[in-house]
Amino acid sequence: MLSLQDNYNQLKNDYESYQKMAEGIIQKQNAKIMELDKKLDMMSLIVEISEYINKGLGSSEIVSMINDIMIGILGVTYSSVYLVQNRKLRLKVSNLKDTNHHYPVKEFNEKILKLEISIFNDIENISEDKSVEIHSSIFMPIYLKNNILGAIVVEHNRYNYLTQEHIKLLTALSNHLAICLENNSLYNKIKQNSQIDGLTGLYNRSYFFSIVENKLRDYKEKITVIMIDIDDFKKCNDTFGHQYGDYVLKEISKIIKENLRKDDIIARYGGEEIIVYMFDMKNVNDIYRRMNYIRSVIEETVISYKNIQSNVTVSMGIGISSKTDTSLEKIIEKADQNLYKAKELGKNRVVF
Ligand code: GH3
Ligand code: MG
Ligand code: MG
Repeated sequence: MLSLQDNYNQLKNDYESYQKMAEGIIQKQNAKIMELDKKLDMMSLIVEISEYINKGLGSSEIVSMINDIMIGILGVTYSSVYLVQNRKLRLKVSNLKDTNHHYPVKEFNEKILKLEISIFNDIENISEDKSVEIHSSIFMPIYLKNNILGAIVVEHNRYNYLTQEHIKLLTALSNHLAICLENNSLYNKIKQNSQIDGLTGLYNRSYFFSIVENKLRDYKEKITVIMIDIDDFKKCNDTFGHQYGDYVLKEISKIIKENLRKDDIIARYGGEEIIVYMFDMKNVNDIYRRMNYIRSVIEETVISYKNIQSNVTVSMGIGISSKTDTSLEKIIEKADQNLYKAKELGKNRVVF
């Protein structure tokens, strides 16, 4: 028979072990809650970052935005973003002057290697530029499926600052950055395709109208339009073939672009017709001189393609606004009429 004292001790022991067990369970639950909290924080951070980056869609600033985010979120001293271009990692943005100690980047550029995540902590300064101290660093590749898009290198001046926890966060982030970068590049490609003529690299007709009309809305000024048309281009195609004709169109476009100012708007108007809009041209003689010079350069240029060598000429019509003619349509009509006159007068000339 157990004495009362034994009974009491037994119960006390049982109670204490249950209490310990409960405390253990509570501790484990708390750790789980903390872990979940961390994950939740990380997820909301990623959502916030994706939203922020998507706002900059199409902007050339997107890589700088990513770099700033890295510094802000991870509290690192330095951050550098590399993107793959022509199978090499190119530094796009960094707040470091010298990134020569980024060894995985060097290795990748020597021969195409798979990029691996790496973490590096060293009591010694790992920076090659001894004016900065770096003791902790993570190299994080950015992959989209199996394609390497780039890499992020984050660094701190304190030894052991960066840990496995940072790797977890960076891994999750890099997947989102990959999607953001891909979206950005697709967006820019689509935008460019809708503005640029594929053959000549000049603006296309609809983009020409949208820029000029926008400018004219904000800024009342004298309108100058020049219509340029290649002479006897049908014959050129018939004699030397369509491929040569395409090449001629590209070369003529290049000559015109090279000899105009950066702000002038040049577009492919239709088949072998090019339209130019000039800003701030007050004197018709200046316009004539400039365009006649371009005409003479074209006349003198031998266009060589494969084993064909030939040259072409162009005719141009200038249209300028007046007190009565102020609309863009009217000025284009005038330029067109002058182009027609140039053709009638024997081609290879500029008429205003
Ligand atoms: P004109 O001196 O009166 O302007 O005569 P033209 O032969 O240049 O004019 P026409 O309007 O009779 O013919 C224009 C030619 O331009 C016909 C067309 O095949 C050619 N063309 C239009 N677009 C392209 C193109 O993208 N590539 C090539 N190779 N030819 C083109
Ligand atoms: Mg023609
Ligand atoms: Mg034509």
